[in-house]
Amino acid sequence: MDIKEEIRKLIQLQELDSQIYSLTNRKDVEIPAEIDRLKKNVEEKKSTLTTFEEKIKKLYTERKDKELDLATKEENIRKAQSQLYQLKTNKEYKAKLLEIESLKADVSKIEDSVIRFLEELDKADKELKEIKNKFSEEEKVFKEKESKLIEEQKKLEIEIKSLQEKKARLSCDVNKNVLAVYEKLIRTRGGIAIVPVEDENCGACHIRVTAQKINEIKMYKELILCEACVRILWIKEDFE
Ligand SMILES: [Zn+2]
Repeated sequence: MDIKEEIRKLIQLQELDSQIYSLTNRKDVEIPAEIDRLKKNVEEKKSTLTTFEEKIKKLYTERKDKELDLATKEENIRKAQSQLYQLKTNKEYKAKLLEIESLKADVSKIEDSVIRFLEELDKADKELKEIKNKFSEEEKVFKEKESKLIEEQKKLEIEIKSLQEKKARLSCDVNKNVLAVYEKLIRTRGGIAIVPVEDENCGACHIRVTAQKINEIKMYKELILCEACVRILWIKEDFE
């Protein structure tokens, strides 16, 4: 078996695996996290909107109460006024007039508060409308972003599949034992099984590779692994 030739094939496989690894990470980790973040943001805004809607609902109930109160008081005035002409003594008449005046003062107070209240309600209604418009715009933007990301996932899936097919074709030519070592490392070493020595350091864990070890690699009699991270090592200049 020509180890140098096998390493040359493994380098090609590693290039494909690195691409597969990073595309898969984008598809299965990054994109779902992004969608999740966007979704949470929209849900938070939605809950702000719901809280505001409930507040306004309460204001409308309050308005109804105030109007009922006003109607009752006005009815009382009418009653008192109709009683006025049935009264026999001057004293009774004066007392009733006082009662009417006091009721009228009450009504006027309630009317003032209703006016202030309606102004507040009007303001709140306008604010709600703005919040609603803003929210539906944000929701639209979210949906657009989400569908773009889902679209990207689909494209990535196709791309990954095509890289995997390419890898499968290349793998057929690799020695079975060499391939078994490589595949085990790919699975257990975060998708990186074979790395070049760079400035006498391992290209993955950066630990120093001894001169003795470099000599062993350069003989290409067997696969030489990094002592620290246990990845297959190769020398760049030997493959240029
Ligand atoms: Zn290493």
